[in-house]
Amino acid sequence: MKNVAVYGATGSIGSSALDVIARHPQRFRASVLTAQRKVDELVALCARFRPELAIIADPALERSLREKLAAAGMATRAASGEAAMREAAGGPLCDTLIAAIVGAAGLESTLAAARAGKRLLLANKEAVVMAGALLAEALAAGGGTIVPVDSEHNAIFQCLPRERGDLAACGVRKILLTASGGPFRGKQRDELKSITPDQACAHPNWVMGRKISVDSATLMNKGLEVIEAHWLFGAAPEQIEVVVHPQSIVHSLVEYADGSVLAQLGNPDMRTALAHALAWPERIDAGVSPLDLLKIGQLHFHAPDRVTFRCLDLAYQALATGGTAPAVLNAANEIGVAAFLEGSLPFLAIAELIEETLAAVPAEPQTTLDAVIYADLTARREAQRIMRRAFC
Ligand code: NAD
Ligand code: MG
Repeated sequence: MKNVAVYGATGSIGSSALDVIARHPQRFRASVLTAQRKVDELVALCARFRPELAIIADPALERSLREKLAAAGMATRAASGEAAMREAAGGPLCDTLIAAIVGAAGLESTLAAARAGKRLLLANKEAVVMAGALLAEALAAGGGTIVPVDSEHNAIFQCLPRERGDLAACGVRKILLTASGGPFRGKQRDELKSITPDQACAHPNWVMGRKISVDSATLMNKGLEVIEAHWLFGAAPEQIEVVVHPQSIVHSLVEYADGSVLAQLGNPDMRTALAHALAWPERIDAGVSPLDLLKIGQLHFHAPDRVTFRCLDLAYQALATGGTAPAVLNAANEIGVAAFLEGSLPFLAIAELIEETLAAVPAEPQTTLDAVIYADLTARREAQRIMRRAFC
């Protein structure tokens, strides 16, 4: 029996993960659940999964969480705040952690789980973008395993040999990351001037949280995933190629020196990656309908439009700069996406804001967590300042 902590349990990935866990009560137990502010949803999940601990990120809501758990007659303990999340991530209540918090808020608990040698199921791509080198160090020190949950990286993980050194040693020439192209694929810049948040969040293939939905619409999601692939698989930037595949059936591919290209295919449903990561190296039912190739008939691939969707190149640029540049990119993007979702920043200005923030905040070496957090905070302040001056 594996004890699984689901961080970000009330989100899109969190609920898909709990769906898979519920299908296999003899294998998995949800032992810790966390949420940011949705106390009632967290209590409802506790009633269903009976974890030992429920953590609400906002300390002002701990009392309400405790009272509601007690009123429902549950033995689940309540806690709150960043320190409680860090402690539980590295503590004895879980051996597996699903990192499904969105954004920089997931960084410290992800690092704590890695340091403690847990099996880390990583959906929180922003953590690896910000602090890929520190995460690699923490994993090496803790001796645990990381299994990517992001569908592309999970696909690559499945297409690489199980026992592997660096990519060159196993004959890998290239990693091909597929991108759906998002809801605005095929549009030109002047068609995107007055895009609304609801239009940006209407993804053609996946139902996801609002932040990653906007990232998919700007192609920043793929940019973040290029950086994620660099750190997870040790791929050089020029070995990572983005291919637009609007159907989201081929989740990514690995090209080998002998000309073989291995791909992982499946219906676009995150429960496949979650079930794979939970059970790996075994295979379990995910509740996902089988892929019907005859119904699909053809698979389509195109080059990305890097002129309209500039965020992809900004991410390559931050990766090439190195150090804390990806943390700056991520922070500016989080600020820009939040402002766009609130209606105070135009869609196309997200890329401009990131570009200006990258130019304004110099990259430093990524040597400590403090350096990363400092870069993150500096970039957030700078992005707010640029936004007030230029866009609002
Ligand atoms: P979501 O918005 O649906 O859920 C986010 C979860 O994080 C919620 O449970 C929320 O309570 C929690 N959270 C948010 N801010 C927090 C904070 N400050 N402190 C503590 N908890 C906080 O997002 P999602 O779509 O489930 O995405 C989660 C992560 O997984 C993201 O990093 C995303 O990029 C990645 N991911 C998602 C998908 C997908 O299909 N949804 C696919 C691949 C990767
Ligand atoms: Mg993805």
